[in-house]
Parts: sequence; structure tokens; C-alpha cells
Amino acid sequence: MRTAVGVDLGGSHVTAGVVTDDGTIQSQHEEDLDDLTFGAVIAALETVIRPALKDAGGVVGIGIGAPGNIDAATGAVLYSPNFDWHDAPLGDTVRSKFSLPVFVANDARCATLGEYTYGSGKLTKDFVLLTLGTGIGGGIVARGELLLGNRWGAGEIGHHQIRPADGFVCGCGKIGCFEAQASGTGLIRHAFAVAPSFPRSDLLDVPRSKLSSKKIRRAAQAGDLHAVAAWKSFTADLALGLANVIAFVNPATIALGGGVSTAGDFMLEAVRPRVEALTTMIPRGTTNIVIAALGNNAGQVGAATMVLRGGLTTGDARAA
Ligand SMILES: [Zn+2]
Repeated sequence: MRTAVGVDLGGSHVTAGVVTDDGTIQSQHEEDLDDLTFGAVIAALETVIRPALKDAGGVVGIGIGAPGNIDAATGAVLYSPNFDWHDAPLGDTVRSKFSLPVFVANDARCATLGEYTYGSGKLTKDFVLLTLGTGIGGGIVARGELLLGNRWGAGEIGHHQIRPADGFVCGCGKIGCFEAQASGTGLIRHAFAVAPSFPRSDLLDVPRSKLSSKKIRRAAQAGDLHAVAAWKSFTADLALGLANVIAFVNPATIALGGGVSTAGDFMLEAVRPRVEALTTMIPRGTTNIVIAALGNNAGQVGAATMVLRGGLTTGDARAA
């Protein structure tokens, strides 16, 4: 059995898993990230990778999924707004610390590879993963191949604009990006946007730091009118983006992952009929919208799979 270390590098913590070639995580090590400077992040990576390597005995290499525009050939982070890095030599630096092959790629593309290989994409060749969290990450598999694009940017579905005239300001600077409207942060913004219509609502009467998208979703499930209105705006925007994805790549399956996807059927039931209504040129009902199967582990499993495949590729017998 071949084994690799798969690392999920996020904005608040970093997790390293020992992953075998059947997609199983054998052990995990996690470290919080307070300091996002390059040197501090490298130190945190070492803190989780060293014990993982010890657990594993022998590994093929180390795979890292990180946010941003990443050259998966060299492992350089070309641009990461989350870390405020430009041309950061992440792959080379980690390579110099460990005498092992090191692969680095965008975190959502890694998660897509993991979910396609071992999760909800297992039985299809045309697959899209969207991670709905603080932002929206994405990845596209078409005819069994993970799309990379001309400059590693294929799958940046979060930054197609769906409400350029009246939407929320996105972290990227544009107005009304899919990410700004339909991420967990988007749900919170919808709750503020509809608040004037609910002057007696106490939904937002908590410190901003305590206000989570989950709180709003749960209140919507409990029938709170303010939360229901926010949830309606949110799911309308989510459906709009999903229908666009279907028009672009006509996948067999779109899997929704990330923290917001724990809403499960409550979200799917709201979104599916709207997506159907917005799907015109493609036969309706030919794209399955599901909740991703691997949860928070998709990034680690996918990063390790990248190592076991020798690069950011499905290496797929399913590819035609
Ligand atoms: Zn954007």
C-alpha cells in the first residue's frame, strides 16, 4: 500500500493527514495559524508534517493544498489574498526541509481531486465540486480530466459575477461575485440586507464575531421570519450560480462541500427546483446536485492523491 502526507492549509489552521492509496486517512495532526507571514506558516507546516511522517513510516511524498493562484508545476503561490502573498516559493521551501517530493496546488482543486476519486464524484466523469465556506472554492473534472486552465485558474467559479449591479462587494474587489452572494459570509450579508424589513427581529443582536451562517440557517429551519427571508435570498443566489455552472460545463454531478453544506437536505430542497427553472438549453434533471461525501477531509485526501498520481491529475482510467 502506498502512502502520502496530505496537507490542508487554511486561513486559520493547518492539518496534515497520513493518507493511503485507498483514500483512507490513518492519522491527522492539526495546528492553529495566528500569524500568516510566510516564515510562520512554514514553521506551522513543519509542526504538522514531521509527526505525520513519523506515523507513516515511509511515504511517496508530501502534498499541500493552499488558497490562491498556485503554479502546481513548481508549487509557487503566485497570489494568495488570504495570506497576502505574492510569488511565495512554498513548494521549494518545503522541499528544502524534507528530502521528499513535494506538490502544492490550490486547495479547492485538491479537494475536487479527492472528492472525485473517493467521494461523490466516484461514479462520474463530469464533476464539479464547490466548497461553500467563508468563500467559494471550485474545481471542474470534464471527461475524467481535472481542468487546470492556461494559468492554473480553471475552477475559480466563486468569482463569476451574478449580481454586478446590486450585489455585495467581494474580497477580490468586484461586486456581486458568486462567492460574495452564496458563501457562508454571503448568507450573513443577506441577513443584514433584509434586516430593515424585520425591525423587531433579534437575529442579528449578537456580536459580529459570534454571528455564524449556521445560526442564521438554523433560525430559518426553526421558522424565524427574518432568517427565512435571508435564507431565500441566499438560496436564490446559490441556485443562480449553480445554473451558470451547468451551462458552462454540463456536469453529471455538482457536489456542495464546505461548512455551509452541513445544511444538507434543507439547502438542496431549496436549491434544486430553482436550478431546474434556470436551466434552459440543457435537458433538466441531468445534473445531480448533492452534498459532498468527504467533508473536511477532501482537501487532505486530494492533496495526498496528487502526490500518489505524481501531479495534479486524475490519472484516470475513466478518462476517455
Ligand atoms: Zn470575487
